[in-house]
Amino acid sequence: MEGEKGNDLSKDTVSDKRQDSKPVILIAIPAGRRNGTRSCEGLIILHVILSSSLFCFVFLELERILAKFGQDAQKIEHSVLIGCSDQHEAWFALDLALGNSHSSGSLQKSEMESELQGAFIDLRKALFQLNEKDASLISTAQALLRWHDCHQFCGKSGQPTQKNVAGSKRVCASSKMIYYPQMSPVVITLVSDGTRCLLARQSSFPKGMYSALSGFCDVGETVEESVRREVAEEVGLELDSLQYSASQHWSFPNSSLMIACHAAVRPGQTEIQVNLQELETAEWFSLEEVAAALKKKGPPASQQDGAIPFWLPPKMAIAHHLIQEWVQKQSSSSNLA
Ligand SMILES: [Zn+2]
Repeated sequence: MEGEKGNDLSKDTVSDKRQDSKPVILIAIPAGRRNGTRSCEGLIILHVILSSSLFCFVFLELERILAKFGQDAQKIEHSVLIGCSDQHEAWFALDLALGNSHSSGSLQKSEMESELQGAFIDLRKALFQLNEKDASLISTAQALLRWHDCHQFCGKSGQPTQKNVAGSKRVCASSKMIYYPQMSPVVITLVSDGTRCLLARQSSFPKGMYSALSGFCDVGETVEESVRREVAEEVGLELDSLQYSASQHWSFPNSSLMIACHAAVRPGQTEIQVNLQELETAEWFSLEEVAAALKKKGPPASQQDGAIPFWLPPKMAIAHHLIQEWVQKQSSSSNLA
């Protein structure tokens, strides 16, 4: 996987200082639209306080906030549609450009934190604190805002592109090229030999964490071809069969569509050759080892000798889902035996 891009646009969301460990997310939404144009007077910030499953909404005038921080109300036009509520209110996200490294950015950030009585936290951390629905909303917002930021100009004519109202595309008036937001497909594969599963570490992983094998799909490949190639490249195994499991949008390092699969090798063809250019290590783990690791929450404390026992990606990650599915399948088949 390539490293995270330097631009930390919309990397932060806002979490609530007032209620310990209950994050608050700020999303700019217009209360209504007239004749397809966005009415500025209706724009508000949706202040979601997550206290168990109960949502509490506090509405603040976005225009007032923008004015207070010396930003043009026209900025509202830069917002993008990210979804809608059960009451069919459209939800828009707006980048307040506080994360940019201009000298005034950090000053504005702390002023905004005190104005909104919240604190900015890293998006990656926020995603793990939110429920699935909110996490998906925030991750869509960040992906879409980042895409718009990186597609300001036409790749063919070099002329500026214009966003449509919803933010679902950008158009170049000069060359008539239309650009749509994109995701990069990534395959993530849990290989099993019938009794054990193969887990690996990339050097960028947190210490002690192992996960399923993953890699970007190449242009022109099918998912099946990508899975077979990635497994062969990373650990030198030839797959006997593979099966689709689930998919997930993932914001890091860039907008990815994670496609999760189970795969099997033939018993007796389990010797791995770790590609050290891509992986730090890869090992076979038994059902007992994996089942025990699944029960642990978060990174374990280091042992007396300083070593960190092996642990697995958290619940929100699709790798966790794959590993859990494998454990369930193995447990039920060993019960039948
Ligand atoms: Zn153009």
